[in-house]
Amino acid sequence: MTSCILCGKETGSCLCENCRNEADLAQLCVDIATYRPGCGEHPLWDAVCQTLRTPYHFKNLVFALSDQLSVGRKSYVRVLGIAGNAANVPKDSRQWFYARYAEAKDTEALTALEKMRLNGLALGALYMDYRYDEAERVANTLYAAEYLPWQASFNLAKYYVVTRRYEQAVKAVKAFVKKDHENDLFALSQLEKLEKDISDAMKKAAAGKGEYLPNPKEGRDEQNKVFPRFEGRMPGAKSGGMEFWSTKRRHSRKLYRKDASVKELSRSSQRLCCPERVTGP
Ligand SMILES: [Zn+2]
Repeated sequence: MTSCILCGKETGSCLCENCRNEADLAQLCVDIATYRPGCGEHPLWDAVCQTLRTPYHFKNLVFALSDQLSVGRKSYVRVLGIAGNAANVPKDSRQWFYARYAEAKDTEALTALEKMRLNGLALGALYMDYRYDEAERVANTLYAAEYLPWQASFNLAKYYVVTRRYEQAVKAVKAFVKKDHENDLFALSQLEKLEKDISDAMKKAAAGKGEYLPNPKEGRDEQNKVFPRFEGRMPGAKSGGMEFWSTKRRHSRKLYRKDASVKELSRSSQRLCCPERVTGP
């Protein structure tokens, strides 16, 4: 028998009938998607997390709880059900994410801040897929915002570093208001690391050392058509042909353990609703 994740009563579903009727499902999905397993804020959820193959699959539970939500809201919480608190969706989930992003990005059901959260994920996916034209449009939207969720600020700054616009990268980090996240040590550590990365990149640029450019493995010829447009905007940019080098691209360390792929989600959600199956005989 499965227990209700809100009241703990034994029931045949993730939510007992009473809690399902009374709960704000949209908010519950966001809370579940962004819950940090083991943080102690919700002992019942921590107990469920311990029954899973990896506690970070807990966020996938939103797939079993969001069926009744409107399309835009459902897409948004399901994106969070994959991304959780991380700045990006996993590479394997990007195509799935683009479809959900298209469904949710203009919906009136989302607040301005939620749209920025979604746009931040989109920017990360787009520039890492070398879709620079689309990434630039999303970046302009984020850059115009006064306040950003830290993940959006993080990706915006990363994007400007990748396209070698360091002053804008510095401003993007400033859009993140540290005092609003003073208890979020993970967010603060990520942003502090990013500030150092920007500083290092600026020093490299000043010294005339190699900055980021797409390398041959990343479709160099295709990117060559797009990338110089960014270089032209950079103060002191060299004119003439592009030179590429095959240095390994620096990836930020994985924010979390690898998520279950989208294909596994229905199975995963089923397990989450019946966590005893994972550890049962
Ligand atoms: Zn209940």
